[in-house]
Amino acid sequence: MQKLIIEARINEYANRKANPHVPWSASEIAEDARRCREAGAAIVHFHARDERGQPEHSRAAYADIIRRIRADSDVLIHPTLGAASHDAPAEQRIETVLSLARDDTTRADFAPMDMGSANLDFYDPKSRRFLSTDTIYKNSTATLQHFAGAISAAGMKHYVVSWSLGFTRQALAFMDMGLLPEPLFLLFVLTDGNLLAGHPGTAAGLDAHLQMLPDDRHIEWAVCNHGGDIRGLADKIIDEGGHIALGLGDYPCSESGLPDNAALVAEVAARAAVLGRDVASPDDVRQLLAMA
Ligand code: ZN
Repeated sequence: MQKLIIEARINEYANRKANPHVPWSASEIAEDARRCREAGAAIVHFHARDERGQPEHSRAAYADIIRRIRADSDVLIHPTLGAASHDAPAEQRIETVLSLARDDTTRADFAPMDMGSANLDFYDPKSRRFLSTDTIYKNSTATLQHFAGAISAAGMKHYVVSWSLGFTRQALAFMDMGLLPEPLFLLFVLTDGNLLAGHPGTAAGLDAHLQMLPDDRHIEWAVCNHGGDIRGLADKIIDEGGHIALGLGDYPCSESGLPDNAALVAEVAARAAVLGRDVASPDDVRQLLAMA
């Protein structure tokens, strides 16, 4: 079986109410990335945040973080697109990561593309109402075609994200069209908590994704659970040859002693050892995914 890729999803837009260990500033993010790498992570995914945790969209902020991470660690870097608005034109949404890629010291290893659109309004089951009613994460086919070509041309690896079966089908169509090369790295975003756009973070939710994957394509799949504890599925994912993406960006783990990101990575690495699966280094990932 392939070595297990562990990705640390260290912050997203998480606050510190439930767990104070969410890294925000550039130095906190770089330090967290270094510690996650030491614990077994091969990839780190981050969103730039300011000192108070607000989203930071500037190119300079991303450049600063990437340089700091590279100075301390060989971990593979996967930033968010950092776009200010999902309604912006495709060229504008991806400009930050493309601009960073023009400089060898700030090029990311992966650039993400979510293969469809989804309603991202939070649902509160207690009050039986949505907290917003018009939050659309919009990724048109034209936008995705632009992203696919631009990411290839910039020398980064496509980090392909599926929230539900239709997203996966779109990814497979892009493979048929020659827009996404094999091996494909495909993240399944399960969603528990107050987001309903993904499959639930259950074995059945994951199996519905896996049953769709064709045998004649080389797809390395990974799983995260936004709003839920992916550790409940870790053994299944490790046994079935998948990869695991987790961190405080997705779930604060406040019921299990307020771990930091490195502790969560270490826990998955320890489960892999128990189950007899080796953990991938960044070089292993480059080889497995045929990255430049
Ligand atoms: Zn993210």
